[in-house]
Amino acid sequence: MGGMGSGRPPGFGAARCEDYRSIDLAWLNSEGILKRCTWTAITWFHGGQTSGSIQVKAEERGLRITYRTRDWGGEWEDISEFVHFSYSAANFDGRRRWFRCLSCGRNCRILYGGKVYRCRKCYGLKYRSQSEPSYGRALSQAQNIREKLGGSLCVDDPFPEKTKGMHWKIYRRLEAKEAELARHFNLGLAAQLGGVW
Ligand SMILES: [Zn+2]
Repeated sequence: MGGMGSGRPPGFGAARCEDYRSIDLAWLNSEGILKRCTWTAITWFHGGQTSGSIQVKAEERGLRITYRTRDWGGEWEDISEFVHFSYSAANFDGRRRWFRCLSCGRNCRILYGGKVYRCRKCYGLKYRSQSEPSYGRALSQAQNIREKLGGSLCVDDPFPEKTKGMHWKIYRRLEAKEAELARHFNLGLAAQLGGVW
């Protein structure tokens, strides 16, 4: 939060994000932020109030993230981190891009903001699917798709490879469906966790 006043680099863009405090690679891509060579401010809102703001800039090898943060009542601290991209082989596109978590090195699609941005596993966010019908169902449907392909059941892990004999068209459809379900799940989870971040 804060720290957005002085020293803005030229060509500063802005993106308003209504979601929870996280950085979703798919969202950055859909907003065109990954193709921009300039800084973009991402601001989160919660109940009409700004709940957080960071600046990001995509470079060839990764994403630069800067912001100011402070512990409750503490001094402001400038944080500047560089999260490397990693790539996995993909079908038509040639390769798929991931964040490589700065703490554990896992490939992930979403970084979660606490003081720093790390993968779900590093923040120990547990799936609490069973109690919440709507997003819990989205999670198990997403996991069913993953199981079918013999891959990891964690929706933040890279989507499993296509199995032999499966048509690309079907694989792509499953992949799109899984992405949609995972997003539904993440939003539901964030809503449940509320102001934790
Ligand atoms: Zn991690």
